[in-house]
Amino acid sequence: MSYSPDLLKGQKALVTGASSGIGEAIARYLALSGAAVAVNYYSEAESAQKLVDEIKAANGEAFAIQADVSKEDQIKAMFSQTLEQFGTIDILINNAGLQKDSAFVDMTLEQWNRVIEVNLTGQFLCAREAAKEFLRRGVQPQISSAAGKIICISSVHQIIPWAGHVNYASSKGGINMMMQSIAQELAPHKIRVNSIAPGAIKTPINKSAWDTPEAEEKLLKLIPAKRVGDVEDIAKAAVWLASDDSDYVNGITLFVDGGMTLYPGFTENG
Ligand code: NAD
Repeated sequence: MSYSPDLLKGQKALVTGASSGIGEAIARYLALSGAAVAVNYYSEAESAQKLVDEIKAANGEAFAIQADVSKEDQIKAMFSQTLEQFGTIDILINNAGLQKDSAFVDMTLEQWNRVIEVNLTGQFLCAREAAKEFLRRGVQPQISSAAGKIICISSVHQIIPWAGHVNYASSKGGINMMMQSIAQELAPHKIRVNSIAPGAIKTPINKSAWDTPEAEEKLLKLIPAKRVGDVEDIAKAAVWLASDDSDYVNGITLFVDGGMTLYPGFTENG
């Protein structure tokens, strides 16, 4: 795997939920692109440290930091420690997320609240702390033409309704409106806020949907590209959105989904 270490040279990034899956891959690719990376984790300290060691072994800069993204005091402490360690922050990847699936009438308030507080409130809390630092520091032209970049990991379910997952789909729909509203408010300050909406990507969150041939065959019916996505598909998009190559891109959702949002059920049925 080769990536230009000059693309994000001198930039400081924080990736939430970076001890597995998409977050781990994004943290790795940001580091390969020259950024120093704060690797946030919730409970998997060992995996987070393994990634930090890997980045350092390749002459990169990284440290691991525990925090529950839904807890305001923990997020404030995480940002204070990151600023202490790195001096500032240029890139926030709002990635942490979870599912607590249930038929609608059986869904408990606890299941609803936990998904909303991690997937949506967690992104709000982290974006707010990052934006405060971007506004305080402003643009450093030798580092980036933006004062800061926020990338929200959403989902195709910000537009595709999902039976049995009303909490998750609602959290992702909320991310879209949150992302666009923040982007509109902060654009005059040269802060860019965008989302990536992954389709089906092979990670622990959706293992049961791809880890048997029968499950994968069923899943592929929903994907015109006829392959399940890899975490690298998302990581490469994140690097682009974090870099000045996307300087005129603000308030968009980049769907990285192999065409899942193209209503594949209509292919031979229109
Ligand atoms: P994953 O389960 O590997 O990653 C989720 C990460 O979030 C984990 O590292 C987990 O520890 C962390 N996390 C959970 N609760 C947390 C909390 N309270 N505080 C901090 N971290 C917490 O699965 P993934 O697929 O890599 O998911 C990453 C993001 O991508 C999620 O937001 C998910 O909704 C989104 N997504 C994934 C897919 C997919 O197909 N895999 C599709 C669309 C969107």
